[in-house]
Amino acid sequence: MNYFLRALREAVKSWPLLMAAIACSAGVAGLWGANIAALFPIIEVTLRGESLQSWNAKRMAAAQERVDAADREAEALRGDLAAGRLDGSAAHSARTRIDALTTAAHGDRAIVSSAGKLGPWLSRFLPTDPFRTVLVVVSVVVVSTFLKHVLLLTGTLLVTWVAMSISRDIRLKVFDKALELDRAQFMRLGSAGFMAQVTSTSDMLASGITSVYGGAVTEPLKILACLGCAFMVSWRLTLACLMLAPIVGFLMVWLNRRIRGVSKNILARSRGFHHVLLEALNNVLTVQAYTMEDFERERFRHCTSDMMRTGMWHTFYHTLANPITEILGIGMVATSIAVGAWLVINQETQILGITMTEQPMTVPGIMIFFGFLIGASDPVRKLSGVITGLNVGIVGAQGLYPLLDTPSKLVESPAPRRVPSPHREIRLEDVSFSYDGIDTVLRDVNVSIRFGERVAIVGPNGGGKSTLVNIICRFYDPTSGRVTIDGVPLTDMALADLRGRIAMVTQQTELFNESIHYNIKYGRWDATDEEIEEAARKAHAHDFIADFPDGYRTMVGPGGFRLSGGQRQRISLARAFLRDAEILVLDEATSQIDVESERLIHEALARYVENRTVIMITHRASTLALADSILEVEHGRVTKRPAPRHQAA
Ligand code: ADP
Repeated sequence: MNYFLRALREAVKSWPLLMAAIACSAGVAGLWGANIAALFPIIEVTLRGESLQSWNAKRMAAAQERVDAADREAEALRGDLAAGRLDGSAAHSARTRIDALTTAAHGDRAIVSSAGKLGPWLSRFLPTDPFRTVLVVVSVVVVSTFLKHVLLLTGTLLVTWVAMSISRDIRLKVFDKALELDRAQFMRLGSAGFMAQVTSTSDMLASGITSVYGGAVTEPLKILACLGCAFMVSWRLTLACLMLAPIVGFLMVWLNRRIRGVSKNILARSRGFHHVLLEALNNVLTVQAYTMEDFERERFRHCTSDMMRTGMWHTFYHTLANPITEILGIGMVATSIAVGAWLVINQETQILGITMTEQPMTVPGIMIFFGFLIGASDPVRKLSGVITGLNVGIVGAQGLYPLLDTPSKLVESPAPRRVPSPHREIRLEDVSFSYDGIDTVLRDVNVSIRFGERVAIVGPNGGGKSTLVNIICRFYDPTSGRVTIDGVPLTDMALADLRGRIAMVTQQTELFNESIHYNIKYGRWDATDEEIEEAARKAHAHDFIADFPDGYRTMVGPGGFRLSGGQRQRISLARAFLRDAEILVLDEATSQIDVESERLIHEALARYVENRTVIMITHRASTLALADSILEVEHGRVTKRPAPRHQAA
């Protein structure tokens, strides 16, 4: 609930809109009650062929008559008491009668006073002809219903706007989080997890906010308006009709728990569903090559049936909320009909010894009372939808906020230090690293790489080569020790400053489903077309690009699938060359390029690597030939030695 309250507080930032929405809700509730209040008694009066003015005058006269009679009787009784004509039980019942007469006269005086005030209004605004009165009243009701719906629409749009902007805001924050977390933190949720958060979970939160600020204000206000009016007719009778409320309240609490549980399940299923879907689609070649289609189909079928089952339970509980609240509404109306009918038929004011009304109820009186209760029962029913929405929102908030609260392990320095460009030296000082806090991947690494040096990193698979490079690029921070550039720890530099000095090409090339031009330009967004072509020439990509009918505008397809592995690597190299960074990191960057092209790329690389630091993970002897020194990484230990050609020299 706390997390959801946070979302609601965020909505409070748009308080002018919310206030306007709440004002609309109050207007809707007022008009809802007023429509019922207007229709019932007026139609009741006019259908008897009477004008409202004469009805009001008669009502006033009758009340005045009762007041006078009560005053006379009370006066006579007081006289008898004062003269001592009554004693014992007779005196006692006389006093009780005087109290009853005073109370009744009080009520009647109120009628006289209200009718007195109403009289001039009725004469001024309503015709004396009963049928015309009905026409005026129904026209007012139609206009006020129209107005009610205008307010309802405005209120709904305002609330939805607030809810949608919060959900959009949260989507942006989730996206930001996915970009800022370190790689291990990101992988804990994975693309599928983030996708579920950005889609289903944010939608759930938005629906919760809409429910609260939309229905949670309007519906209770409508109920209050109607019950308030019913209270004015007879508060005791209203309380009697609300006897079912505690039972329904208890059932609603139980239902809330169920709905929350099912919503959590839906969220978990949705993550699982995205996971299975993305895994199968992203690895579709392997699925087909190993004829695992049936297996994947079965997995997908399984999680879709899971989703369906959970969805059915959700609908069941969601729908159950309706009958439960409707029972309250109908229960209220049924009780009021039974009790009210008994009182009216028997012209009684008490039931089972409990006083229900001061005066015996009239038919119009009980009719308007029924009207108010029916008016209250509809919003009670709608309130169940609000409660469901609220629960869904709570679950959505519980899924989103803990993720947004997860701090990235890569903390940005509040006062970043600048390092002159180009740098002089990269140094790793006693660097150790573990992904999980158990297995140490790098141990006490002490290495210095000076500017302009070409370093080849070699060693067996799983030795820690990529981890070492990722630490230098600050995709991870070391568990202990530090990495410095010219004596400044990487943690003291702005991440953008550090990464701006690095161009990186990895073995798994990452290409966007855009044109070749776009993918190369990604290295330096302000590059000109000439610079892009020059970078492509250096990476020996220009010729094959020029062979495509669309040239640089050729779309590469998702993940670059329209290109061969070697072509993809060459585009990645072109992107890195275009960046013209002072540190070039190549992680098996030419592993899929044919020998002849690789030789040509190395020639380009040999020219390109002048005046920059190059860190290359490689197994190829030809790449090793470019290196000045070699870092041997094995079981987390790193040793540095000069490259063979330098040794020979
Ligand atoms: P290399 O590049 O030399 O093949 P890596 O640096 O990729 O080796 O991996 C070194 C060790 O760290 C391996 O044992 C690997 O299983 C582990 N490892 C790599 N990445 C992760 C990760 N994100 N989470 C946990 N362990 C990892």
